[in-house]
Amino acid sequence: MQTKFKLLFIVTLMLLALGGAIIINVSLNFRDYSIKGAIEKATMSAAIVKDGLTAHMVNGTMDKRQYFLNQISNNYDDVHTLWIVRSDNVIKQYGDGFINETLRDAIDTKVLQTGKMITEINEHTEKILLRVTIPYKVTMNNNGTNCLSCHNAKNGDTLGAVSMEFDITNMRNAGFFTILKILGLNILFIIIVLVLINHYVTPYMKLFTNMQDGITKAYSGDFTHEFMTTVGGDGGQIVSQLNTLFKKMQETFGDIKYNLSTFIPQGCVSSADPLYEAKTIIGELSDIYKFKKTIELDASKEIVYTRIADILTNKFKLENFSFYEIDTVKNTRKLIYLSNGTSICHDEVDKTADLCRAHRTKTDVISTEFINLCQHCSANDMHYTCIPFSINEENSITISITSNSLDTASAITTKISSIRNYLEAAKPVIESKILMSKLRDTSLRDGMTGLYNRRFLEEFIDTVMSQATRKNETYSVMMLDVDFFKMVNDTYGHDVGDKVIVEIGKVLQENIREADLAIRYGGEEFVIMLHNADKKGALQVAKKVHAAFGDLIFEVGNSETIQKTMSIGMARFPQDGDTIWKCIKYADTALYVAKTTGRNKIVEYTKEMSENSDLR
Ligand code: GH3
Ligand code: MG
Ligand code: MG
Repeated sequence: MQTKFKLLFIVTLMLLALGGAIIINVSLNFRDYSIKGAIEKATMSAAIVKDGLTAHMVNGTMDKRQYFLNQISNNYDDVHTLWIVRSDNVIKQYGDGFINETLRDAIDTKVLQTGKMITEINEHTEKILLRVTIPYKVTMNNNGTNCLSCHNAKNGDTLGAVSMEFDITNMRNAGFFTILKILGLNILFIIIVLVLINHYVTPYMKLFTNMQDGITKAYSGDFTHEFMTTVGGDGGQIVSQLNTLFKKMQETFGDIKYNLSTFIPQGCVSSADPLYEAKTIIGELSDIYKFKKTIELDASKEIVYTRIADILTNKFKLENFSFYEIDTVKNTRKLIYLSNGTSICHDEVDKTADLCRAHRTKTDVISTEFINLCQHCSANDMHYTCIPFSINEENSITISITSNSLDTASAITTKISSIRNYLEAAKPVIESKILMSKLRDTSLRDGMTGLYNRRFLEEFIDTVMSQATRKNETYSVMMLDVDFFKMVNDTYGHDVGDKVIVEIGKVLQENIREADLAIRYGGEEFVIMLHNADKKGALQVAKKVHAAFGDLIFEVGNSETIQKTMSIGMARFPQDGDTIWKCIKYADTALYVAKTTGRNKIVEYTKEMSENSDLR
């Protein structure tokens, strides 16, 4: 509304200036015109008096002149005073005249001397007087008046002067009232203009205020504002366009905000401008995505740790920090990375990880929050921020950041949530690297075939399963068993039997991918777990393995060869059973069906197999 008042103020000022100019102009002109009129009238009156006196002289009634002069003074209200004076010449010839005919002032003297008319305005508070003094000069004209017939004078000499004072106060009053009228009209005009402007401008001003409110809200990410106006035409059209735009912004921006908050917890990036916040979050997400993609391809957890250290140094510009890995089972801690200098933790923390406050409490330890916060920190003259982060049940990491100044320490605190986003992204990757390194452990492998052994299955199947459940992954489980294997042992001896088992190992490894698992389950029984394979794909692999094994030709001595077949039972996790153990059991059930219905075949598990005991 401020704009409206400003506008009204400016218009009022302009109209007042215009009115003022008119009043000044009118009053000046009015004064000039009135004075000119009054002077003309006064001059004319003085001339009439002069002519009247001439008539008295001609008629020889000059001694009665006072009556004539009094008549004029008394009968005309405007005539304030009237007097005549004689020149020295006339005084010399005819004497001083009446008592009131002596020189009254310098004007009288000057007119007698110069023979020129003088007019003067005398303004008093109560009245204005216009003084006119005209010379009475010697004339010689043909219409009977000849001054020289009576006066000892020359033509053109000044015989006397007639002075009159006119009251022109009325003229001033008339001017004053005219100005008052103009002023009144002006004020009336200003009021009308202001009322009209107010009437036509108010809806626009309301619209501006409304628009301003909406835009202010939009700055903070709220596009729910509904624009309203009583203005028609273009104004109305703008309002409807703005409403459509804001509705669209609310729908799309609301979605973006919601989706972003699912990626990065709110509050990580705080800004009054949500668009800027969204931009920052998207930038951060993009960086995290690239980081994750990079570490996924790294060969080991140790390289991933180095990358985290790189991010802390280059992206977060941390100068002094250390990075520890904690074995929660053994309660020990290992220094992974130290940016410079020595660790700020006491040595005993490495042997008893629980002494680390951040690790034990699973909360960030920020030294500025309390004096000597961590009892096992050796750097009490420095500020430190320790961030604990759990990788899995057996492993966690702690990042300890130090600084000398309070400002740097506060700046570090603001980076914690962002650092955690990176750790969160690295977590599943580190987890799988840990798992992979464990998988490589030879104690989990079967010496004869090089495949994983049953111990591996028992130790890691739960981890594999929970990871699969979390990531919505599937496994196709196959149970394989050589048909009539006992006969090989019995007929050709155990060596031949072992050879067959070794060959099975090769066939399995050749036909599965890196993410799949092949396990020697026991004797000549094997389990294959195909990662994220659909039903059709899994069956294809089973057929390939089945065929490849069936094609193998084993030399059994004496130039004799044999070929063997196998039976395969299949089940799918989590479609058939909610645990992998159950699925192994169901695959075994299917294998049993394959064995009892002729062997040398692939059978997929169905629910009926468990229900129908005849098939078991
Ligand atoms: P089926 O078709 O019903 O499977 O008949 P099968 O004879 O194969 O019977 P089964 O699977 O029960 O036979 C398992 C035999 O595998 C028993 C055991 O002598 C033999 N075996 C288990 N481990 C080894 C091994 O490491 N080396 C050799 N040579 N034989 C083994
Ligand atoms: Mg067998
Ligand atoms: Mg067997």
